[in-house]
Amino acid sequence: MDFSITKDDEAAAAAFDRFCQDKIAPRAAKADAASTFPKETWGDLKEIGFFQSFYEGDYGLGLPWVQRCMMEESLAKACASTFLTACAHIGLCGAPVFYFGTPEQKQRWLRPLVDVEQIGCFGLTEPGCGTDAAAIKTRAKKSEKGWVLSGEKALITNAPIADFAVVFAVTDPEAGYGGVTMFGVDLKKPGVTRSAPYPKMGLRASPTGGLTFEEVALSDDDVIGEVGQGFIHAMQTLELGRIGMCHFGLGIAEAAYDCARKYAGERTAFGRPIARLQAVHFKIADMKIEIDAARMMARRVAWMKSKGEMVGPMASIAKAYATEMAVRVADAAVQIHGGWGYTTDFPAERYLRDARLGPIGEGTSEIQRELIARDLFAE
Ligand SMILES: Cc1cc2nc3c(=O)[nH]c(=O)nc-3n(C[C@H](O)[C@H](O)[C@H](O)COP(=O)(O)OP(=O)(O)OC[C@H]3O[C@@H](n4cnc5c(N)ncnc54)[C@H](O)[C@@H]3O)c2cc1C
Repeated sequence: MDFSITKDDEAAAAAFDRFCQDKIAPRAAKADAASTFPKETWGDLKEIGFFQSFYEGDYGLGLPWVQRCMMEESLAKACASTFLTACAHIGLCGAPVFYFGTPEQKQRWLRPLVDVEQIGCFGLTEPGCGTDAAAIKTRAKKSEKGWVLSGEKALITNAPIADFAVVFAVTDPEAGYGGVTMFGVDLKKPGVTRSAPYPKMGLRASPTGGLTFEEVALSDDDVIGEVGQGFIHAMQTLELGRIGMCHFGLGIAEAAYDCARKYAGERTAFGRPIARLQAVHFKIADMKIEIDAARMMARRVAWMKSKGEMVGPMASIAKAYATEMAVRVADAAVQIHGGWGYTTDFPAERYLRDARLGPIGEGTSEIQRELIARDLFAE
């Protein structure tokens, strides 16, 4: 395995990391406290080329996966809310259009996402089901002019601010997995309403909410991919999302490690820095071990993607480990800060709140284990 990238790509990733630390990280605490995504961040990410890093051809720079993943890690390290909102916009929402859309659909929907003229979201989860995605109730019925969409989506990143959504709906209730179709929906259409942002445990600067569709008129041109292929396209998109979530976990863990290490060097107890106490410095060593292990898993998946290999269970292994690791590392960072770790004077508590999404979003840890075990026991 060779995870190396060219010197130029390495320099570009390092420049992006500096940008994240200089521009994005200083906004994170305030954005979290205000539960608001900083508007200027959209323009800054566009200017630095973040939204160009996902696709190739007319819609991006075709960066190597390892480089793109390093950038995602840098962004999550600087501000996990920014990672979530930006990646839901260009990744979760953009990927189905890029991989399964027609040239006309890419021009209509992906172009404005890459150029940040519109904000995107990905609508799969519903109030009654998330993991069991084939049980969705949102329905698109064939009409003379196209389709009529009715139903409700919940827990959708960017729903409160989005202009465009990729929406999954049942088009043939008799066909099970084969009866789901993916649509591109302009959220300004009559019949679309959205909830206010939900108050959340963490990732507060990334707005999460619900979308309701009441007899929204869609045309055949709004179908992305084939009718009846929506479930498969959703799973393919979520597999890519898992790679992103590895880097979400890695980035948060890195940030938590940095702040814990710094604090342990400064805080004294019993006449010496707490970093000299074995209980504390072993904890910091454990954080480092776990981060390193997760990074190897994440890089392996990125490297496999670069070679065009199927990542399947490797993405699940890396996603489950990296996101659970981030919770453990952020928790250790709070512990190392003692009582101050429990206050908002230090970012450790935010890292812990933010990290907690990792084992839930884009396929829970339980479902990752299910996928890994299914592969292990496959006949
Ligand atoms: C901040 C945030 C942002 C999100 N953004 C989006 C988004 O942009 N788009 C979107 O579509 N969704 C989004 N989600 C939804 C997220 O993907 C779901 O919450 C997640 O998939 C779990 O679904 P659920 O909440 O319905 O839980 P359930 O599916 O009801 O699961 C509840 C529990 O049961 C377990 N469980 C369920 N089935 C199994 C099984 N077969 N085996 C073992 N255990 C099982 C789960 O692991 C979990 O622990 C977001 C959620 C959050 C919190």
